[in-house]
Amino acid sequence: MSTTLIDSAPAPAPADSRIRLPGLSRREIAAELTAMGVDPKKVRMRAGQIFRWIYNQGVTEFDQMTNIAKPFREELATRFTLARPEIVEHQISKDGTRKYLIRMAPGIEVESVFIPDVSRSGALCVSSQVGCTLTCTFCHTGTQRLVRNLTPAEIVLQVMVCRDDLGEWPSSIEDRKLVNIVFMGMGEPLYNTDNVVDAIETISDDQGMSIGRRRITVSTSGVVPDIARIGAEANTMLAISLHAADDETRTKIMPINKKYPLEELLQACRDYPGLSNAKRITFEYVMLKGVNDSPKHARNLITALQGIPAKVNLIPFNPWPGSTYECSDMDTIQTFAARLKKAGLAAPIRKTRGEDIMAACGQLKSESEKRRASDIRRAARAEG
Ligand code: SAH
Ligand code: SF4
Repeated sequence: MSTTLIDSAPAPAPADSRIRLPGLSRREIAAELTAMGVDPKKVRMRAGQIFRWIYNQGVTEFDQMTNIAKPFREELATRFTLARPEIVEHQISKDGTRKYLIRMAPGIEVESVFIPDVSRSGALCVSSQVGCTLTCTFCHTGTQRLVRNLTPAEIVLQVMVCRDDLGEWPSSIEDRKLVNIVFMGMGEPLYNTDNVVDAIETISDDQGMSIGRRRITVSTSGVVPDIARIGAEANTMLAISLHAADDETRTKIMPINKKYPLEELLQACRDYPGLSNAKRITFEYVMLKGVNDSPKHARNLITALQGIPAKVNLIPFNPWPGSTYECSDMDTIQTFAARLKKAGLAAPIRKTRGEDIMAACGQLKSESEKRRASDIRRAARAEG
């Protein structure tokens, strides 16, 4: 068997009406403490302590919070829980990629993918929405309607679930693998900017999980007005799903290009704060046979990116059931890459990861919608 399924959704727990603290921001934790009647003078200090226990130490029991008096810990445990959401499905690809299907709420199932060896460490690809309102023609997620935006807590919890799984608490652990976050899972982060900004605040807090903003990349299909916002409010790295550098081709494969055409998009990129050779924008370019992979397309791309500190990620198209595209031939991709390189653009060809478990770019969600966890468990048992 090429994949390992470690699932094991426990029997459903009885409904728990306690409020889940993991996922909440400092501000929200403080508000909960105020609501329970904690002395206003102590709220800030208490919220800071609890924040560190949750996000730095990863505790799952209030009794582990040893600098908090026992009676107060007991009171906390009656109102709050430190439980994580249920992992409905957990698969490991033969290349080490780990995919989690997490149930945040009834009907709200979210996929995250951990890729173990990106730039000497690993990266977690998180989702920002369930489904997507956009309909990029090459993307599997684009065939699914938007269910809803994820809350900040639901974004933060994806990181916690992965850190639990990798055993990387406390956050100061040496050589930890989960050091990069990319918003390249399901959904368009810049149609959920407020919640993405709030989640990044919590994820990057140096008293907590401490994943620096320079190690967080927000990927957008090109929601121009929010590019400046993400720069100003989150100050993360930026990736643009470009995929074509002429309006005609881009509009055909990415309908959002009609609303925000290339010229506006590229201007927003030029205006992104803090760009330099060390802080470049990543332009994602999925290689679609006969669609965007000719020498002319390469020339358009080179011209478009002039003057922008940029690197290009060439992504071999990942097919999905029902997709009408084919991936460009390897020769064509290499020639395309060589042209960009000659023009001074870094243009690595991205290795496809986790394909055997449908965890690769653009493959998320549908597979798990179709194959319920129970079916997979049954199949695993049969293969046994
Ligand atoms: N909505 C955001 C982030 C999620 S998509 C965005 O579009 O940027 C993450 C990346 O996967 C994007 O660059 C997207 O264009 C790419 N992608 C989508 N479908 C793909 C497929 N079938 N093969 C390869 N890459 C794909
Ligand atoms: Fe949505 Fe991004 Fe897929 Fe386009 S590529 S449909 S924006 S998830």
